[in-house]
Amino acid sequence: MSARPLPQLTGLSAAFYAFCKARELRFQRCSGCAAWRHVPRERCGECGSPEFTWERSSGRGRLFTWVVATRSMHPAFPSEPPLAPAVVETDEGVRLVTEVVGCAPAELQIGLPVEVVFEDVSDEVTLPKFRRL
Ligand SMILES: [Zn+2]
Repeated sequence: MSARPLPQLTGLSAAFYAFCKARELRFQRCSGCAAWRHVPRERCGECGSPEFTWERSSGRGRLFTWVVATRSMHPAFPSEPPLAPAVVETDEGVRLVTEVVGCAPAELQIGLPVEVVFEDVSDEVTLPKFRRL
């Protein structure tokens, strides 16, 4: 089995994943208009400001959507059991692509309350995933 492709730890993404490694889910928050944002980027999509701080998320949210992938499109991802890539919307309104762990795809439902868990997938990379509350 091939190793799964992992995030590139460069620029603002490196900062995001460094917080994950420290078991903190943090997102950028605009210093100009207070909008939260993810994925990490240089400027606010609402007001264009380059100023921001890394604010800690509650780590809680709801399942926004998901898809069940029954056929692998990459050799690093097995087809059995089926994978369910998901989008979680956090309490702050930030949406991120992730995975709900410890929950069969058939048990997923829109609005399912979840909280973050952190999974070390390599010596350098820790991914934020979610579990059902
Ligand atoms: Zn802004």
